[in-house]
Amino acid sequence: MHGGEAFKTSSIINEEVISIIESCIPFAPLHNPANLIGIRVAMEVAPNLPQVAVFDTAFHQTIPKEAYLYAVPIEWYRSFAVRRYGFHGTSHQYVVQKAAEELGLDIKESAFISAHLGNGASATAVLNGRSVDTTMGFTPLEGLVMGTRSGDIDPGLPPYIAQSLGISPDEVVDLLNKKSGLLGLSELSNDMRELTIAANSGHVGSKLAIDVFVHRLAKAIGALAISLPKIDALIFTGGIGENSALVREKVIGKLGAFGFQLDHKANDHAVGGIGGIITDRDSPVAIVVNTNEEAMIVKQTLEVLNKDTK
Ligand code: AMP
Repeated sequence: MHGGEAFKTSSIINEEVISIIESCIPFAPLHNPANLIGIRVAMEVAPNLPQVAVFDTAFHQTIPKEAYLYAVPIEWYRSFAVRRYGFHGTSHQYVVQKAAEELGLDIKESAFISAHLGNGASATAVLNGRSVDTTMGFTPLEGLVMGTRSGDIDPGLPPYIAQSLGISPDEVVDLLNKKSGLLGLSELSNDMRELTIAANSGHVGSKLAIDVFVHRLAKAIGALAISLPKIDALIFTGGIGENSALVREKVIGKLGAFGFQLDHKANDHAVGGIGGIITDRDSPVAIVVNTNEEAMIVKQTLEVLNKDTK
């Protein structure tokens, strides 16, 4: 759910919270209305049951201004809340906590880059447990190459394509959301498993799609590093991050400037929920962590409910 700038943490749901979620509908026209239907129905069915709203944006509310503002007229921010919000907050927060635990680090003195690579994909720099920069922006279309989403493009492209194809700006955005990314590049599939198999048997488009995905991810990791004084670990998660040894190998291969060196055996082993450290002993750490957004939602819900009853 999109909480705009209003929600910095999860919140117990009341009429005021509902009206703020409603005010965020323009930012998340697919998600917030559907969530509101669920909230209303649950209220009707179980009026005395407390409900808690957990926002995918809340974790990123600690990002500083220089990272969340676009270099557009500041009036757009003041009047229309145009800024970078970031998403996948529950997943990034969960895997960072988990990685800190697994590596025996104090989260309050830690620095991570977390790469959530699923059908949607984003990477986040997390300093001392707080998000300080992320790749997704005003909408989840910005940033990395995804299954069917383009990620970053030149803003001059949409009007050019609209004119070239004779379609409306909304139709261009639809193509950038649904027909781009891995699917658009490969002309085959948005599914990394399928692309890996096809690339191995010589399908040129699939190899190209994987290469662009990897290049842009490695570039984003490099960019996120400037928000951190050190990198305790690079975390891979999400369906691709947890399972694609190939993507991880290619990404780590591009991060030599940071000193990363892959442990090939550990990397090949860390699939299908196994996880673990995938880098050599004298390399900065890269670790595979299985995300569990549901567990994070439950944890935050209990925290909010316990606070409310104290
Ligand atoms: P998610 O949205 O987190 O469920 O992730 C979906 C993505 O993970 C899809 O692109 C899948 O192809 C990819 N994925 C799942 N399992 C594997 C695998 N064994 N190898 C490569 N990619 C995988």
